Amino acid sequence: MMDIEARLTINLAALAANWRQLAEGRRVGAAVKADGYGLGAPPVSRALLAAGCRHFFVAHLAEGVAVRAAIGPGPMIAILNGFPPGHPEAGDLIPVLNGLPDLAAWTTTARQAGRPLPAILHIDTGMARLGLDATELNRLAADHGLLAGLDLRYVMTHLACADAPEHPLNARQATRFAAACARLPPLPRSFANSSGLFLGPDFASDLGRPGCALYGINPTPARPNPMRQVVGLEAPILQIREIPAGTPVGYGASWTAPRPSRTATVAAGYADGYLRALSGRATGILAGRPVPLVGRVSMDLITFDVTDVPLPAPGDRIGLIGPGQTPDDLATAAGTIGYEILTSLGARYRREYTGA
Ligand SMILES: *Cc1c(COP(=O)(O)O)cnc(C)c1O
Repeated sequence: MMDIEARLTINLAALAANWRQLAEGRRVGAAVKADGYGLGAPPVSRALLAAGCRHFFVAHLAEGVAVRAAIGPGPMIAILNGFPPGHPEAGDLIPVLNGLPDLAAWTTTARQAGRPLPAILHIDTGMARLGLDATELNRLAADHGLLAGLDLRYVMTHLACADAPEHPLNARQATRFAAACARLPPLPRSFANSSGLFLGPDFASDLGRPGCALYGINPTPARPNPMRQVVGLEAPILQIREIPAGTPVGYGASWTAPRPSRTATVAAGYADGYLRALSGRATGILAGRPVPLVGRVSMDLITFDVTDVPLPAPGDRIGLIGPGQTPDDLATAAGTIGYEILTSLGARYRREYTGA
């Protein structure tokens, strides 16, 4: 029987090597939110744990519960979006406190519990998303009693423009973060995401929080990618067709063969996270050669023009993500970012974890 399942390969050795590279000479954790950027939070977290990672960041409480189940007790797991105190699922997961109301809820609970509660304090230094704003910071700086009962592990902030090193907001955020920390009790600091780790000493802290770079996305978009590729995706050819010039292909007849052509119909589509915006814009790799995607991306199928390569057979695989077509390349073709390519990777792929 022909194997007609698309195969998503996740190289855990490359992931671990990426973490060790970023951890060289400094302490970094790992952002494993959104199911480990779509690659599977449990195997990803276990591989990072084995590589030495002891600090994990997720967005949602349920994600933290899944990571804790995967890695066992001990390492810190912080919930970036926070959660209400006393949540029955919370266990030893640590909330990020993103405003004075969060702070008040947790200090009240700590007082009632009669014991300090661990937390991370988030200061907004220029994103206007989450974190204490300037007014809240002023109130806290004037009254450190607002922290009573909390066992603060870190004070953190998040960079808005770290992937654009020349952006003036970077330096402004570094200055604001240093100034904010100086007005608080002394605490370990957590600052840079992946790109921030490449911005230089002003962005150093006690705990970096890389995410995308671990998964092979280029944290320095203006320069060659210093990270190893982690993801491979290959989908099988279901049919080969010989079509006369003038034959339209796919929905909307958006591509018409300009010459007698050979096409390959492949089992992947936008329902698998192969974004519809890639229609007519992406390239596949067949036996080491690039083949253009033609026509629209359907829900379950895509078509490549294979006229100019040696005749393939049904069951042969076309590489959709690999060394010749990285998540960043696909993202550029789709008008998005590599993060969205990874977190969109579908549930129908057969997932194979290598290098564990
Ligand atoms: C997602 C996230 C990170 C990791 O960012 P990358 O750009 O993927 O390295 C770090 N910190 C916070 C607060 C985040 O939300």
